[in-house]
Amino acid sequence: MGYALYIHLPFCIRKCPYCDFYSEPVSASSPIDSYLNACLTELNTFKGVAIDTIYIGGGTPSIIPAVKLDKFIRATLSTVNYSGSEMTIELNPDSTSDEFISMLSELPITRFSVGVQSLNNDVLRLLGRPHNAEQAKQVLDKLQNRTNAAINADIIYDIPTVNPRAIYETLQELTLYNLEHISAYSYSPDTGYLTTAPTDEPEQTEHVCAMLKTAGYERYEVSNFAKASCRSVHNQKYWGMSEYIGIGAGVHSMLYNERQRIRYSHKPSIESYINNPIARDELETYTAEQAALESVVFGLRQIDGVDIKLIETRTGHSFDTSFLEKVQYLIAQELLCYENNFLRATDKGLMLLNQVMLHLWS
Ligand code: SF4
Repeated sequence: MGYALYIHLPFCIRKCPYCDFYSEPVSASSPIDSYLNACLTELNTFKGVAIDTIYIGGGTPSIIPAVKLDKFIRATLSTVNYSGSEMTIELNPDSTSDEFISMLSELPITRFSVGVQSLNNDVLRLLGRPHNAEQAKQVLDKLQNRTNAAINADIIYDIPTVNPRAIYETLQELTLYNLEHISAYSYSPDTGYLTTAPTDEPEQTEHVCAMLKTAGYERYEVSNFAKASCRSVHNQKYWGMSEYIGIGAGVHSMLYNERQRIRYSHKPSIESYINNPIARDELETYTAEQAALESVVFGLRQIDGVDIKLIETRTGHSFDTSFLEKVQYLIAQELLCYENNFLRATDKGLMLLNQVMLHLWS
C-alpha cells in the first residue's frame, strides 16, 4: 500500500481571524516560485515512492496562478509513483477563476474541496471570509458543470453569536447541490476570536447530523459526511494512522521505521522552508504503546471505530489491564461499545468524544 501525500501551499488573500492553520497573506512580493521549487526539492527525496492519495491544501491553493500550479502538479506526478486512487485540491470561492477550473479539468484531479463555510453573507463577514455566498454558489455550479470530479464543501456551525437558523439554512441550500461530500466543522475557538459567547453545540451537532442524514449523507467521521462510496480515502488514511508524507512549511509527516512510529514537522515559516526544505524539525519517535494508544484515540473519530487486534498487530503492543479497565468503564457508561474486535464510540460517546479521548489518554 502506498503513502498519503499532503502538500501545503500556505498563501491566502488575507488571514481569516478565526483560522489557526499556518498561512501568510499573499502580496506581489510573495516568493511563490521559490516556495513551489522548495516543495519539489523536498518531494525529490521521495522520488519514485508509491503514493495512493494526494491532497493539495493550504492556505488557498486556488490563489496560485493557474499556469504555475499546473506545472507544479505535473512535476509532482512525474516525481512520485502515484496510483491514481484520489487527488484532492482545496479551492476558495473568491479565487477560483474560469481559467483555474479549465486547467484543473485537464489534470487527474478526482476531488475538489471548496471552502464554502456559509451561504449567509452576514456570517461570512463575521468570519472575515474574503468571499460572498454568490461566489460560493457560482463555483459549485461551475465545478459541477465542467468537471467529473467529486466535490466536498466545508461548512462551519456552532459559531458564537450566530443564530443556528442561519446555519441550518446554509445546510438546506447546500444539500440541493447533491454534492458527494460535506465536512461540517464545529467552530474552533483556537485563535481566541469570538470565544466569549456561549453556544449550544450538542443541539446543533444533532441537528446538523439529522439534516445531512435526511439528505442522504452518511456520517463516517465526527465532522465528515459522504454519499455512498464517496468517503475521502486520503482523510481515512489519517484517521487510520497510515503513513503520510507532508510537504511544505508547517506540516507534519508520519512514517514507520520497522515498527516504530516517527513523526516530524517543518517550521511554520515560508522563509525557513525555502532556505532548507529537507530540514526535519521536532522529530518524535513513539514507543509501541504510545503508537497503539494514539491509534485507538484518533481512530475513534471514525464512526466504524477501530480494529483493536489490527492495531496490536501493527504496533506490536498488547493492551494491558489498565487500558482495558478504562475501556470497560467507558462501555459501562454507554460511551463505547465493542463488537467483533471493533471498538467504537456510541452516539452518546461521539457527543462526549473529547472526554472519552482524555479518559483513555490519562
Ligand atoms: S482562507 Fe482558509 S487557510 Fe486561509 S486564512 Fe482563511 S481559513 Fe485560514
